[in-house]
Amino acid sequence: DQFGIRAALNNLGVLSENLGTSTGNEWINSGQDYIESVSPVDGVLIGKIQTTDKKSYEQIILKAQEAFKFWRKVPAPQRGEIIRQIGDALRVAKMDLGKLVSYEMGKSYQEGLGEVQEMIDICDFAVGLSRQLYGLTMHSERPGHRMYEQWHPLGIVGIISAFNFPVAVWSWNSMIAWVCGDVCIWKPSEKAPLSGVACQHIVAKIFKENGLPDGISSLIVGDYKVGEFMTHDKRVPLISATGSTRMGKVVGMAVASRLGRSLLELGGNNGIIITENADMDIAIRGALFGAVGTAGQRCTTTRRLIIHESVYEKVKERLISAYSKLVIGNPLDEKNHVGPLIDKDAVRKYLEALKKVKEEGGIEVVAGGVIEGKGFESGCYVKPCVIEAQNHFEMVQEETFAPILYIMKYKTIEEAIAMHNGVPQGLSSAIMTLNMREAEAFLSTSGSDCGIANVNIGTSGAEIGGAFGGEKETGGGRESGSDSWKAYMRRQTNTINYSTALPLAQGIKFDI
Ligand code: NAD
Repeated sequence: DQFGIRAALNNLGVLSENLGTSTGNEWINSGQDYIESVSPVDGVLIGKIQTTDKKSYEQIILKAQEAFKFWRKVPAPQRGEIIRQIGDALRVAKMDLGKLVSYEMGKSYQEGLGEVQEMIDICDFAVGLSRQLYGLTMHSERPGHRMYEQWHPLGIVGIISAFNFPVAVWSWNSMIAWVCGDVCIWKPSEKAPLSGVACQHIVAKIFKENGLPDGISSLIVGDYKVGEFMTHDKRVPLISATGSTRMGKVVGMAVASRLGRSLLELGGNNGIIITENADMDIAIRGALFGAVGTAGQRCTTTRRLIIHESVYEKVKERLISAYSKLVIGNPLDEKNHVGPLIDKDAVRKYLEALKKVKEEGGIEVVAGGVIEGKGFESGCYVKPCVIEAQNHFEMVQEETFAPILYIMKYKTIEEAIAMHNGVPQGLSSAIMTLNMREAEAFLSTSGSDCGIANVNIGTSGAEIGGAFGGEKETGGGRESGSDSWKAYMRRQTNTINYSTALPLAQGIKFDI
C-alpha cells in the first residue's frame, strides 16, 4: 500500500459493511442487497455498500420532511455558518478524500485533490451567499402599496450524481441547497458509492456537533432503480441529476409528468476551434489536458478539434509528439498523466467507438488500444488516441466517455462555428486565437451555442464562481456560482397595502 490507501479509507470510515442508507448520523439497515466498489486502478474490491430498499427510502423521506420543518426556520446566515464548518472539515480531510476519489474513480491524485478543493471553494461561496439570496423590490402602480419578491426554500432536493465527479457535483448542489434552507437526499453513482459514504460522515459530524437534527443530509445507495424512488416521488420537489443524456431524458420526463422541477447536467461533446491566429503552445496544451485529463471522462472533455486548414498539419504533428510523451498508469503515482477508465464496460464502449469511427472513414493518427501487462491488471487502462474524422460521422456526434480526440479541418470562421455547433450537445466550447474579430465572433449571438465559451483556455476545468451547465441535449441546467441558487428556491411576490383604500390593479372598477 505504497500510496497510503488503507489509512485514508480508515480515516474516512468507509470500510464497515452496513453502510449505505443514512439520515445523517444514523445508518439504516436496508436489507440484503449490496453493491461492490471495485477500484479501476488495480481491480481490487474496496468495499461493499448496502443498497437502499423501498422501506428504508420511506424512512429517509420522513426524516427529511421533519428536518426541513426545522432547517427552513434557521436564519440563512446561521445555515451559512454550518457550511463554513463543513468547508473547514473538508480542508482537514482533503488528502484522504482526494485519495479515495482517485482510487475509487481512477482520476489522478492531483485531480482528486482538485475535486476536493472545488468542494471547499463552493463552501466558501455558499457562506457568502447565505447573507445574500437577494430578491428585488419593485414599485407598485397603486398608491400606498409596497411590492417586493422573496425567495423561500423548496423542501427536499434529490441529488443524483455521476461517477466522474463523485464528490464535487454533490457539493455544488448540497452546499447551495442547504444555505437556501432545503434538505438533501443524495444518490451517488453506483460506480463510486464509497465517496458518497465518506462525504456523509464528514457532514453528519458537523450537523451533530451543532445540535442539528438528522435528515438535513441523507444518503441513499443503488443504481437507477433507487434513483427512480426519488424521480417519481411528489415529495421531492426538485431533482438535480448529473449524468448521461440518456439518463436525463428518462429522469426529465418522469419528473415533468408529476410537474416537479428538474435541473439536468448531461453529456457534452466539446470542441475547440484552433484558428491560424492561435498561440500554438497554449492551443496544444489546452487541447491536450482537455482531451486526456481524467482519461477523457469529464463532461467538459475536449472531444473535437476544429483546425484551420493552414495550420492543420502543424497541429497534427505537435499532437502526435505530445501524445507520445504521455505516461499512462496508476493515477495515484504522480509521474503518470493518464489513469484508467472507470470499468471494463467503459473499455468495451471505447473499443466499439474506435471500430465504428474507422468503419465510417476515420483515420487513426495516434493509435488507441487496451494496455496489458504488469500494473494494468484491472483491464481498465486504454491509450488516449487521435482520429482524423468528419464532424457528421455518427461517432463524432456522440459522446464516448473515453480519451478519443477527433480532429477536423475548416476554411472560414463561419464554417468552423457551424461545425462546432453542429452536434446535439451544448456544454463547453473554446476558441484559440489572438485575433479579436474571431474571438468576438465566437462569443457573439451567432457564435458558440454552449453554456460555457472560452477564449484561449481549453474546454475543461471551470471555476465554481460561474454558472455551470449547458444547452441542447446537455439539459439546460445551471449549477454552482452566479445566480444558480435560484433553482433551489421558490420565488414569492408580495404586495402590501398600507393605505385606507383598496384600489385594484389595472385600474379596474368594482364598486358595490
Ligand atoms: P449515467 O447517466 O450512467 O448515471 C448517472 C446517475 O444517474 C447515476 O447515479 C445513475 O444511477 C443515475 N440514473 C441512471 N438512470 C436513471 C434513471 N432512469 N432514474 C434515476 N436515476 C438514474 O452517467 P455516468 O456514466 O455515471 O456519468 C457519465 C455521464 O455524466 C457523461 O455523459 C457525462 O458527460 C455526464 N456528466 C455531466 C456533467 C455536467 O455537469 N453536465 C458532469 C459530470 C458528468
